[in-house]
Amino acid sequence: MSEPVPNAAAATEPSDFIRDIVAADIASGKHTRIHTRFPPEPNGYLHIGHAKSICLNFGIARQFGGICNLRMDDTNPTKEDTEYVDSIRMDVDWLIGGWADDKLGLKRVGDDDGRAVVAGDAEPGNALEPFYASDYSERLYASAVRLIESGKAFVCDLSAEQMNEVRGTPTSPGKDSPFRGRSIAENLDLFARMRAGEFQDGARTLRAKIDMASPNVHLRDPALYRIRHAEHHRTGAKWCIYPMYDFAHPLSDQFEGITHSVCTLEFEVHRPLYDWLLAALDLPAPLPRQIEFARLNLGYTVMSKRKLLQLVEEKLVTGWDDPRMPTISGLRRRGVPAQALRTFATAIGVTKFNGLTDVAVLEHVVRTELNTVALRRLAVLSPLKVVLTNIPAGEVIEVEAVENPGDPAAGTRKVPFTREVYIDRDDFMEVAPPKYFRLRPGGEVRLKYACIIRCDEVVKDAAGEVVELRGTALLDTRSGGPDAGRKVKGTIHWVSASHAIDAEVRLYDRLFTEELPEKDGRDFRTVLNPRSCVVVQAKLEPALARTIPDARYQFERLGYFWPDPKDSTPDRPVFARTISLKDAWAKETAKA
Ligand code: ATP
Ligand code: MG
Repeated sequence: MSEPVPNAAAATEPSDFIRDIVAADIASGKHTRIHTRFPPEPNGYLHIGHAKSICLNFGIARQFGGICNLRMDDTNPTKEDTEYVDSIRMDVDWLIGGWADDKLGLKRVGDDDGRAVVAGDAEPGNALEPFYASDYSERLYASAVRLIESGKAFVCDLSAEQMNEVRGTPTSPGKDSPFRGRSIAENLDLFARMRAGEFQDGARTLRAKIDMASPNVHLRDPALYRIRHAEHHRTGAKWCIYPMYDFAHPLSDQFEGITHSVCTLEFEVHRPLYDWLLAALDLPAPLPRQIEFARLNLGYTVMSKRKLLQLVEEKLVTGWDDPRMPTISGLRRRGVPAQALRTFATAIGVTKFNGLTDVAVLEHVVRTELNTVALRRLAVLSPLKVVLTNIPAGEVIEVEAVENPGDPAAGTRKVPFTREVYIDRDDFMEVAPPKYFRLRPGGEVRLKYACIIRCDEVVKDAAGEVVELRGTALLDTRSGGPDAGRKVKGTIHWVSASHAIDAEVRLYDRLFTEELPEKDGRDFRTVLNPRSCVVVQAKLEPALARTIPDARYQFERLGYFWPDPKDSTPDRPVFARTISLKDAWAKETAKA
């Protein structure tokens, strides 16, 4: 086995208590190679909480020159589905695939079966090949038989309700099952017949024989196998008994040579069982070690897969990848870059204390990332036409606009400026307060990259609604012109009416109006934000007719946008707002 090669990224990764444990285990010689895993159950799409776990597990492997397995924890046949398996593979690859690009990160290495065990050089169609706990069905069964043979497990005929009745409470001991004293031979026979399908669901379980008086209820002869006559998404009808999480998980870790099995805090009380099982089977050292950390809880959303499934099934969102969902696929479709999620995972850190992460932290990281990569464009969301009467019809003045002020190498582009332009309705007020620096009757404003314009006339319809403005372009105030230095207080965005392309723009906002949608037992469906997706018909500058794959855009003064990967077509562009430029939320709620 080769020596671990801690990679250069180690220098930039912050440390935390888990990384400290890993580093100490390398220093002491306990492990020569670090091996972690990310073990989702394929019963839903991954969410941003999973992203934290993925970045942690794959990040540790990357940092310490180790490997990380993606393992489908698929031992519950009734809720799992290949659709979920496929989505998980895609999401993990998307989230950490980019780490291979830095040449320091993960490399895809094959195990004996030629499976890739580490994400890295992911190419489309070459998604990370996962491990499946269901592939261990025979080995898990054999381990259970060994436990029975050593007198450490027994077949119990109590029903779930009966078992509950004698389990005791955290402060009072439970009672031994009347079947606890069965002979090894009888247990072996009954377990084989459970597998053979002789009994109905729930008729019998295999239980560990530990201690019904243990203060830890998880050690009170926990169930290890149950009967489930159900179709499994991979093994079909081959099995009718399925291992419990507490049995399958430590053993899957051991089978894969996992050194550090990182999970969330609610499993802390399961750890004695994890350790008991590995010890009871007398497995060779070094054994995997379970380490718990605080799960991510985020404001203004719900996170458990069960609740996300409810949103999908009740059609309260358009699907798992609805851009308002906290799922990885939703965030991706909304235009959040994978790098932003990785930065977020680092920013929130790894602790032992459950808390609530302010969604503003995520929003800030997304804005910061998009600000560095986004190409600037002009777009008008609520068009109001301005006719500049001193520019002849048909004349096209090309003005120069920067692509990205943070990246001079991105260069400039030409934007057509003509007699008729659209500005946003918000940028005109007929009766404006003194501090209003945008356009008003008789007033002046600068059209970004073009020149100052003056509003000469307000045209209204019969109902008194402003339908058009007429004005003058002060062409000498163009960049390089004789009056270029002239100052006005306001600069607004615009597009040439004859060149503009029509597009649907979806303005996304937080899915819930309350930071804690389920506070005090409230039904989260009662606090869905009715304005979480506002659709407008916008006018975009012509450069947006051709978008660059994967590019992000800042519509100047409006926010960060990109074409919806599912619904946008060249004939009918649909743009999604990933995030506004500033936190408009506080203002919005104050108005309401
Ligand atoms: P949920 O409770 O949201 O339905 P889960 O815990 O049932 O999720 P799993 O598929 O079992 O989902 O999770 C896979 C891994 O992701 C586990 O190791 C789990 O601890 C971790 N994980 C799940 N939710 C979070 C979270 N909110 N923050 C950090 N890690 C998480
Ligand atoms: Mg789970």
